[in-house]
Amino acid sequence: MNDRPRPRKSPAPAGATAARAGVAAVFLDRDGTITEEMGYINHLDRLQLYPWAAKAIRKLNLARRPVVVVTNQSGVARGVFTEDLLHQAHRKIARELAERKAKLDAIYYCPHHPEGRVEPYRLKCQCRKPATGMVMDAVKRFGIDLASSFVVGDTYRDMELGFNAGARTILVLTGYGRGEYEHQRHHWPRLPDHVAEDLLEAVEIILNGGTRSGSVAHRPVAPFRRA
Ligand SMILES: [Mg+2]
Ligand SMILES: [Zn+2]
Repeated sequence: MNDRPRPRKSPAPAGATAARAGVAAVFLDRDGTITEEMGYINHLDRLQLYPWAAKAIRKLNLARRPVVVVTNQSGVARGVFTEDLLHQAHRKIARELAERKAKLDAIYYCPHHPEGRVEPYRLKCQCRKPATGMVMDAVKRFGIDLASSFVVGDTYRDMELGFNAGARTILVLTGYGRGEYEHQRHHWPRLPDHVAEDLLEAVEIILNGGTRSGSVAHRPVAPFRRA
């Protein structure tokens, strides 16, 4: 995607002045976060928006938060589906959201994998999450302030993306979320800032300024737990 050497950033301290001018965005994972986690989506029939996804995204649209999907799609590199099918899938998502008056400002995807078997995509890239390539492209395009932005996803890899980018993080319990949270979190070096049942609850947390904890009893970092 872009090849400038980009070391991982430490999380910016809250209220850091460096990126003061930017807008607060919301980065969303795709599978398991806005669409059902179905394994590789190798046919459009397998692509299913969650029933609450449009409502949640529309709330962000109305609050004028850029909504940017960042999704790893190594199925392209693995030869499971083509990049063209991926484009069709994203058009389908856009169409179904539009029917419900919601829209994504951008969809970034990483088609790569270092061990893929389809040649042009077989590489170690800067965009595969938890690397921040996709996020950093969106930052430039939309003038985003990462410290006030959120990354929402259903896997720890998404949370790592947020940590690496210096954004705030919300784990949703849809997709792989519940299983990862129940069985893996003891191994996580750092917990998400919030845990939410689903994307709709995540958006409520975001629009409340990140001050409300999710429904799961989860004591994350102190700074965001003021009532
Ligand atoms: Mg996911
Ligand atoms: Zn990539």
